[in-house]
Amino acid sequence: MQRAVPQDFSRVLSSMCTEPHPAAREAAVRFLATNPGDPATYQSVAEVEREVVAALGEMTGLPDAHGYVASGGTEANVQAVRAARNRARDEWSTPPETPNVVAPESVHFSFRKAADVLGVELRTVPVDDDYRADLDAVRASVDSETVLVVGVAGSTEYGRVDPIPELATIAHDAGVDNRAFLHVDAAWGGFALPFTDHAWNFAHADVDTMTIDPHKMGQAVVPAGGFLARDRATLDALAVDTPYLESTSQATLTGTRSGAGVASAAAAMEALWPDGYREQFEVSTASAEWLANALADRGFAVVDPELPLVAASIPDPLFDALRDAGWRISRTSAGELRVVCMPHVTRETLRRFVADVDSFSSA
Ligand SMILES: *Cc1c(COP(=O)(O)O)cnc(C)c1O
Repeated sequence: MQRAVPQDFSRVLSSMCTEPHPAAREAAVRFLATNPGDPATYQSVAEVEREVVAALGEMTGLPDAHGYVASGGTEANVQAVRAARNRARDEWSTPPETPNVVAPESVHFSFRKAADVLGVELRTVPVDDDYRADLDAVRASVDSETVLVVGVAGSTEYGRVDPIPELATIAHDAGVDNRAFLHVDAAWGGFALPFTDHAWNFAHADVDTMTIDPHKMGQAVVPAGGFLARDRATLDALAVDTPYLESTSQATLTGTRSGAGVASAAAAMEALWPDGYREQFEVSTASAEWLANALADRGFAVVDPELPLVAASIPDPLFDALRDAGWRISRTSAGELRVVCMPHVTRETLRRFVADVDSFSSA
């Protein structure tokens, strides 16, 4: 361990995480030994967490946001499924026997974990030609046992945004005397979408819950995910009594958790919202367009980037050569090269990458 060094970011092109903002790093160190899992004991970090939730609410069109800083998008998505399941169980006149969740096939794999842990059925439905949830397919799949419909706002593979308002309508009309929830997974896209024309947030549609992660484009340290809910009752549906703590109930999935993520999220958002994030979004978008054009010019089939994420079909030997040269790249499930233009992915980095593409193509 003594000689181990952390991954340096100079050739990391596939990660959805990035180097934290300096203020986020500093705040993380200061709050490392706090535990927001016990807010009555660790009061100052609990106050900081309330500020983060309020700030995330402001970013997402929800002035009175309820929620907390989760360990990541996975926990937030599990909690969204759990809250919808619990509220249906406790509030519907005919509780579902086997609750189901309807989501596009582009949904993040964390929902598979959620379904497995919570005993709900995950129904994934096809996407359209542009990788967005196919509304007819969603409509055909919801039924009287559907507790949750999921829309992705910034999909992991192609950066696509599902038609959120239409999905909300489908969710809320699903049952006869009950109402399925609409969850928006903006884990990655949430810090970019405020600077676009997309309809994705609580003000644009009757969204019930949302995942939005400060530890991705928010430039906070890991772990800092975000879970937001429109209603207090949704958070209450997650709470259990906590006999031995100073606090009396806990809605999070984790128990003890680091205050580092919470404090770093607050510091990053204070430093960057909104101008710093807007600037970063514009730079990253320009980089993604530059890379998409560079790859298209070389004859590769490119999926037009909508958010700063580029997917392109390149031959297997080229992909392997790039990996061997130290580029940290990944593939979509269809096999395309996937490059996420996170803040550490500069234009200079991309120039060096394309130079390697050229030299390995001609080799
Ligand atoms: C990254 C991501 C997740 C999972 O978040 P973790 O922080 O890795 O747990 C969920 N949904 C989407 C859309 C993501 O991009």
